[in-house]
Amino acid sequence: MSFKTPIVRTVDDLRAVVHQWRQEGLKVALVPTMGALHKGHLSLVDFARNHADRVVVSIFVNPKQFGPNEDLDKYPRQEEADINALSSIKTDLAFCPTVDEMYPKGFTTNITLTSMTTVLCGANRPGHFDGVATVVTKLLLQCLPDVAVFGEKDYQQLQVIKRFVSDLDIPVSILGAPLIRDGDGLATSSRNVYLTEEERSIAQYIPKILQDMAKKAHQGQNLESLMEDGAIDLIEAGFDSVDYLEFREASTLLTSQTVTNETRLFVAAKIGKTRLIDNIPVA
Ligand code: AMP
Repeated sequence: MSFKTPIVRTVDDLRAVVHQWRQEGLKVALVPTMGALHKGHLSLVDFARNHADRVVVSIFVNPKQFGPNEDLDKYPRQEEADINALSSIKTDLAFCPTVDEMYPKGFTTNITLTSMTTVLCGANRPGHFDGVATVVTKLLLQCLPDVAVFGEKDYQQLQVIKRFVSDLDIPVSILGAPLIRDGDGLATSSRNVYLTEEERSIAQYIPKILQDMAKKAHQGQNLESLMEDGAIDLIEAGFDSVDYLEFREASTLLTSQTVTNETRLFVAAKIGKTRLIDNIPVA
């Protein structure tokens, strides 16, 4: 019979399974997701397996990280398909809590960072990273894995998580896994399902324009004018708006004055209502 990934929905049930694994001396990895799983998420499971004996994937669309005018209600939810995908790569456990299990009546705690969260995705999404930090803190404490894996697709999120996990002495190693792309270079994302065929063909210009900018930056062209020209290129390609297109330093997220080994190029741009993000190293 083919393998089916078991599902737990409560913190008690999650802890019971992880406790049993610990008794057996096994190393545990957690891969937090919001579901609508694609090959990017599945690559994190593979990555996690190289660092642990058992892999837990959490699936939870976290209301606290969505703003009032964002796509919380519309966000794709497809648990059965997700469990089938996880089963196909023999994921050991899925943790699928309800909103009430995560945030029971009376919940009042918020994790707030005092830097790194007001730039890039934080600039236009106030409270977004507090919501991410709060849910990830809970997930880490609920599961207490040895390692937790996050994708470089959400590079700022990865740096924010590394920061608060270190600041709060949470005893979990945070690992970043490579960004996975479709054949035409577009970063795979749960939000790509929102794109019409025409929008999908516009979306592929993000990686092309980023690559072109990174190449020119590496050759020594002025970063300011590259950012201005790149934003114009995105609009000319068919994007409706550019939230940001910026060269920043990888671990601090501070603005890059010149190209260093740490320089990355970050973008968020909208086609219609769909907001896409991407980032690449420059060096
Ligand atoms: P999400 O379900 O969008 O919250 O993403 C869950 C995790 O999967 C996060 O750590 C993301 O960075 C990661 N992820 C999403 N898309 C990709 C991708 N294309 N490549 C690598 N990791 C990804």
